[in-house]
Amino acid sequence: MTAAGRFILGLDIGGTKLAAGVAGDDGRLLSREVIPAGTEEGPEAMIARLVAMGRRVVDASGVAPSDIAATGVSCGGPLDIRTGMVREPTNLPGWVDVPLVDRLTADFAGLLGGRPVYLENDANAAAMAEHRYGAGRGVRNLVYLTISTGIGGGVIVDDRIVEGESGNAAEIGHMSLSHDGWPCPCGSRGCLEAFSSGTNIAQRARARIVAGETSTLTSLAPEAITAREVAEAARAGDPLACTVWDETVAVLGAGVGSIINLFNPRLVILGGGVTAVGDQLIAPVRRIALERAFPSMAAEADVVIAELGADIGIVGAVAAAQARLMGPA
Ligand SMILES: [Zn+2]
Repeated sequence: MTAAGRFILGLDIGGTKLAAGVAGDDGRLLSREVIPAGTEEGPEAMIARLVAMGRRVVDASGVAPSDIAATGVSCGGPLDIRTGMVREPTNLPGWVDVPLVDRLTADFAGLLGGRPVYLENDANAAAMAEHRYGAGRGVRNLVYLTISTGIGGGVIVDDRIVEGESGNAAEIGHMSLSHDGWPCPCGSRGCLEAFSSGTNIAQRARARIVAGETSTLTSLAPEAITAREVAEAARAGDPLACTVWDETVAVLGAGVGSIINLFNPRLVILGGGVTAVGDQLIAPVRRIALERAFPSMAAEADVVIAELGADIGIVGAVAAAQARLMGPA
């Protein structure tokens, strides 16, 4: 295959935005566009807008459509990468058993000549992006964890993503750390996500305020309290925020320690909106995780922040398509 045939169209379907871009071998985006997801419109209208945006980014990239080897799609699970079906993602209401790959293959047939479309779970796609183009370059074994409204994960073993039977493996956010802990939207209890996601950091702060604890956060409307405000207040020494933040990093540290014991990775890479606070999160999580993991595996591991920023969804879709088309990095 010539280099010219290695361009990939990457599509990212999220609960808040749809994104698209075209990239070459080096993963750099030659064009990109982001639009609101508009999930209230349902799958048909969203797919139509995604396809229109895909056409625009191909045009804007300057790459001839005949030089685009494949399309990658990153989407929230559960889904089935073997059949290309999106099952029923919690962040995409109305998307029940949508044959997304068949639909996109047909819609792009005129432009891209029926070349393959590959579907990938969004967290696994992001792990593949960090492995190929981000903090995990050159690392054979890594685990990626995204900490935002929820917690997602992806595991790379011997340079390959661990897909499981249908492509939904590594739901690390739904590892139950406490069998009778807080209820989780997934139906289980005590999940890592039910305690340490951005949503739950804010929820725990609000619950303490409702219970009558004092805090600088009481100057905000309850709905204005997010993980970012809790982190800021903790940095300023607010006792309530400090308690919530210390709990958060303790649970995350324990979870990451377990991940190190499970997979013996060289790197655990943390991404997602909550990691924007940098050292305030990563330093205690690293310390606790490495203290709690087996010493031999802790000595080989490190915990770092993801390198790819807001475009990780598009780059993940590109990396997923490259892995399926051309083999591991
Ligand atoms: Zn759960």
